[in-house]
Amino acid sequence: MRCTVLTVGTEILFGSIVNTNSVYISQQLQELGIDVMYHMSVGDNPARLKEMLAHIYTDCDMIITTGGLGPTQDDLTKEMICEYFGERNVPFPEEMAKLEALFAKSERKMTENNRKQAFLPEHAVVLPNANGTAPGFWLEKDGKLIISLPGPPSEMKPMFDNEVKPRLLARQDSVLWSRNIMTYDIGESALETELLEFIDGQTDPTLATYAGTFQCKLRISSKRKTLEEARAAVDAMTEKVVKKIPDNIYSVEGEDIAQVVFKMLKERGLKLSSCESCTGGMFAAAVTDISGASEVFDRSLVTYSEKAKMEELGVSPATLERYSAVSSQTALEMAEGLRRASGSDVCVSVTGYAGPLGGTEEDPVGTFYVGLWYDGKCAAKRFTTRRPTRERVRKNAVLQMFLQIYKTLK
Ligand code: ATP
Repeated sequence: MRCTVLTVGTEILFGSIVNTNSVYISQQLQELGIDVMYHMSVGDNPARLKEMLAHIYTDCDMIITTGGLGPTQDDLTKEMICEYFGERNVPFPEEMAKLEALFAKSERKMTENNRKQAFLPEHAVVLPNANGTAPGFWLEKDGKLIISLPGPPSEMKPMFDNEVKPRLLARQDSVLWSRNIMTYDIGESALETELLEFIDGQTDPTLATYAGTFQCKLRISSKRKTLEEARAAVDAMTEKVVKKIPDNIYSVEGEDIAQVVFKMLKERGLKLSSCESCTGGMFAAAVTDISGASEVFDRSLVTYSEKAKMEELGVSPATLERYSAVSSQTALEMAEGLRRASGSDVCVSVTGYAGPLGGTEEDPVGTFYVGLWYDGKCAAKRFTTRRPTRERVRKNAVLQMFLQIYKTLK
């Protein structure tokens, strides 16, 4: 099926709201193996909406709309769909009864506008709204399918999940299965070059690379008759990819690095502590974002000033004087001091120039050092950051802290 996601609402065109509905629906359709050809948005304008429907159906056989179903929209979406499909907009008694009961219960007065929500195209299948008053609907006519959903994401998402998805699944003759492979220390073009033999000329499974901030993701997908076949094809390709770039993959399950490190520590019963300078606690925040973090995480010390590095971690004044606070020696002493203070099995430290001010000729803004104490040994490593905005440097530093732990423990 060739699908367009058509979002209705002037708010979208004004930029007053972010069009998250298109994103959500596209992600879901991708998983179902339905091709999304276009994202379109139209304001609350009946003539344009009708034109749009005619235009889309020249290339697609399926449209999912969101928005314009509520009482305030004067049934704009519904009216235009009815006109396009030559349907009458008629009251659905069951929906009307539900609405009346709802209003009676809340002791609110039901207006004419409210009643219109129970009017639907005469041949439509109702998609009940468990989280609001406007029902959605599914209409199929002359080989064309339209699925109309309410605008608020809190209503649209459950309606999609519970009403639309099972119906779409039931009519699929193939299943799409995908796996996200998380990579490190390799850029998108290098990744593509390494895997060219698998990417070039492959129709199934397909491989696609996605460049994120400082790391790339690889998606392997297969569309087969059954889920088992699709899964087997993806697994076989995953094996080949892992063999080809074994030192650039930290997860074949799409997990982020914090989760992977958390699992490693948990499995081995290791305790983690961190001391942070330029990241100001961002590493600790990433660790504690994970539910169950207390099983592995002991503490984080934000030692931003030289004074704090000396007082809390015992970094020697001579080291700071001789090598400066942003140096391999300081990162080492920070990690060692943290080990003394916490007794944790894994102690990670970071110190760097987040910018935009600061930095030296040898260590410009974007440079940072990560220190790691583990199993009686302590080491520190220097990193630099491309296009070093403050945000990017700090994000990179957190990523490298996790990666240092991962590489040491793997
Ligand atoms: P209601 O019953 O609330 O009137 P509706 O189906 O008429 O629902 P709209 O009036 O078009 O929907 O939108 C209601 C609200 O839903 C918007 O103010 C906005 O907050 C949210 N919304 C609408 N469309 C989108 C979208 N494409 N992405 C994200 N949020 C949206």
